[in-house]
Amino acid sequence: MTRTRGAAPASHPLPEHCDFTVFGGTGDLALRKLLPALYQCDREGRLPEDTRVLALSRAAYDDDAYRAIARTALAEHVPAEQHDLTVVERLLGRLHHLTLDVTDDHDWHALYGRLKDRRDFAGTVRVFYLAVAPVLYETICRHLGSGGVAADPSRVVLEKPIGHDLASARVVNDAVGSVFAESQIFRIDHYLGKESVQNLLVTRFANTFLEPLWNSQWIDHVQITVSETLGVGDRAAYYDASGALRDMVQNHLLQLLCLVAMEPPLEVGREDVRDEKLKVLQALRPMTPEDVDHDVVRGRYRSGYVEGRPVPAYDEEIAALEAGDGTTETFVALRAEVSNWRWAGVPFYLRTGKRLDRRLSEIVIVFKATPTDVFPHREGLTEPNKLTIRVSPDEGMQLHLTAKEPGPGGYRLRPVSLDLSYATTFANRSPDAYERLLMDVIRGIPTLFMRRDEVEAAWAWCEPILQHWAASGLPPKPYPAGTPGPSAAFTLIERDGRSWQEYL
Ligand code: NAP
Repeated sequence: MTRTRGAAPASHPLPEHCDFTVFGGTGDLALRKLLPALYQCDREGRLPEDTRVLALSRAAYDDDAYRAIARTALAEHVPAEQHDLTVVERLLGRLHHLTLDVTDDHDWHALYGRLKDRRDFAGTVRVFYLAVAPVLYETICRHLGSGGVAADPSRVVLEKPIGHDLASARVVNDAVGSVFAESQIFRIDHYLGKESVQNLLVTRFANTFLEPLWNSQWIDHVQITVSETLGVGDRAAYYDASGALRDMVQNHLLQLLCLVAMEPPLEVGREDVRDEKLKVLQALRPMTPEDVDHDVVRGRYRSGYVEGRPVPAYDEEIAALEAGDGTTETFVALRAEVSNWRWAGVPFYLRTGKRLDRRLSEIVIVFKATPTDVFPHREGLTEPNKLTIRVSPDEGMQLHLTAKEPGPGGYRLRPVSLDLSYATTFANRSPDAYERLLMDVIRGIPTLFMRRDEVEAAWAWCEPILQHWAASGLPPKPYPAGTPGPSAAFTLIERDGRSWQEYL
């Protein structure tokens, strides 16, 4: 049977009633991402008709005051051409604000009462979105449990970071897991909600031509780049205690690596994808201290120019903070290996950083060169085939081939590319990752969320790197803002006879 595109899978029907509770309803994440995503879902008729959104914070807002804040946030964060006043009013009508300090036991009764006053309490899907500092997760879950509102079909959504290292991730997971079953816990990695990332699964597993080539026999290496132009901005305190490895590599980049390297799942939509991703994480070759020195580069930006504007050094951006030992990295490049049958000997080069020369996230699969050159008298270069998956901006995919330039006499060879741009191929709007992920939470579809064992396996792999950095006390290598990172990141790949792909 064919299923209509966009329809809910039969095993995960859209619930009739939904209470969507946002802890941290006045925060940046809620106003900039969650409300606009809920708006788009409502606009496209994807929300259950009977949906309430309960926004919680310590602020003494009544519903009207909060709705005014939400109206401003929607005006700011929903593109003007998609701004439909009827839908705005409908969404605002669903919104309520509750004043609640989660650390104050007395404040919770209002929330319990609000949730339980439902006629069909047992049949209502309750989503608890924890858009607050992770230090509050344990307190919140404990109260949800003791208040009798955590039972299935309740779901809890956790934002990164899940812990600071393996031990602290286990503490968070234990605390949340003592109230919610694993099937009720949705750990968001918004990269997994991006269309191009999901399309990677489709490209690999709904087509036949790539899969026979998808191994160490034909693939030379893989590059994953997440490059940001922004600095730390308002998140300086969080970032300085975290750094690029914890903030980006442990979650986003390793998740992308998993999707590239995983074996075909039995079926997408069940646990199989997460099972296969876990196997990749478990197959990552652990780093020794010598490996960390040799295969991992960390950097920290100095002042410079980004997109023509002068920007301060990281040290200046965090100057107001008391903390900081000067070793937080704003850039990481590393060489990883997946030690299994399919990938043995294929390096995975990962790099990410702030205040770099451009904003871009992409995966490049670089194939091996042809085994022999049958065009000895050619003009021009033959370059290895590459498949580029552009995650942002301009989501899409490019397959780079070598072609003959038209014309008589000899062979003039030229690299060309087959381009799939989402914006031009699919005229419809490309939804924000949060829209897809919020609807999956409401329907209870876990595939695009990280399971506990994945999070912990990713930490287990990162931990020797963090430990060696802490033990060595060596500072990160400086790089001027607005450049592609420290020169050591280029040495890392060039000593293997390879180079970072030029952005196209
Ligand atoms: P934020 O702007 O600082 O907002 C924090 C929210 O928590 C505010 O609504 C605040 O409201 C509320 N809050 C704080 N203490 C509270 C308490 N004791 N009781 C009840 N509410 C309390 O933070 P954010 O940027 O939205 O981030 C929220 C979480 O998402 C963090 O864990 C962050 O790491 C994660 N995250 C954020 C982003 C992003 O783009 N912002 C991206 C990825 C992950 P009151 O102070 O009024 O109570």
